[in-house]
Amino acid sequence: MIRFINNENKTTRIEKRGDVEVIRPVIFDEYPFIDAFFSTRMGGVSKDEFASMNLGYNRGDERERVDENYRIIKKTMGLEGLDMIKSKQTHTCNVFWTKDLKGRDYNDVDGLVTASVDEVLVTSFADCVPVMIVDVNKRMCATLHSGWKGTLGNIIKNGISMLRGAGCDVADMKVFIGPSICKDCYEIGADVADKFRSVYSQEDIEKILGPMRDRKYYLDLHEACRLNLLHEGIPEENISVTDMCTTCNGDYIFSHRKSHGLRGTMCGFIRLKDGM
Ligand SMILES: [Zn+2]
Repeated sequence: MIRFINNENKTTRIEKRGDVEVIRPVIFDEYPFIDAFFSTRMGGVSKDEFASMNLGYNRGDERERVDENYRIIKKTMGLEGLDMIKSKQTHTCNVFWTKDLKGRDYNDVDGLVTASVDEVLVTSFADCVPVMIVDVNKRMCATLHSGWKGTLGNIIKNGISMLRGAGCDVADMKVFIGPSICKDCYEIGADVADKFRSVYSQEDIEKILGPMRDRKYYLDLHEACRLNLLHEGIPEENISVTDMCTTCNGDYIFSHRKSHGLRGTMCGFIRLKDGM
């Protein structure tokens, strides 16, 4: 059974297509030209800790199985024939327009931006925070990998600057902070807590750093990302935060913490559809 944050299921919707189950952000439902979803563990062919929809090649799963999982996702979700843009994420704050990545290697890229309708932007996660931003007027989108390092370094600010540079307006940006570790699950050390204290204001820190429990700190990365968005001028009502935590639902979505690192990888997919 899926556990929802605060026991409320309002911002995500499970979509079942045969054996494949994906998570849809409700905030994008009213825009038919946005196709965005997150994979779950359901519907793939991988085994054991990778069972079953593992979309990561670098954690020990058999390459053929991961290939097959991508094939299943593309076929089931109607993405065949589209260009899948997938970068090598390394917890940087580097964001690129996909057109500028052609001919470059895809290493150390944690954010992708596009205005193309022929591409699917793919980012990988297993507790880190996915942030999808769409300018619904200009029809451009960004997908960002904002773990604690990306949140601290503010990859969100970089993604928004790039959209702004292309003429986008924050008032037209709709944002989904995707399935990732919740504030009750995300225990951090004093060193990480100190880093956040050095970057965020005292007022913000009170919102994102929970009271110590058993001499441990707890960080609300969702709220930290939301504050990064608000500080860039995104209207509060344009931001939707996941009601699903990866770690609370380790059997349903891959979670690094829940599995102690023995895990597969989930992906966020976003594309802009033509003619809608
Ligand atoms: Zn949780």
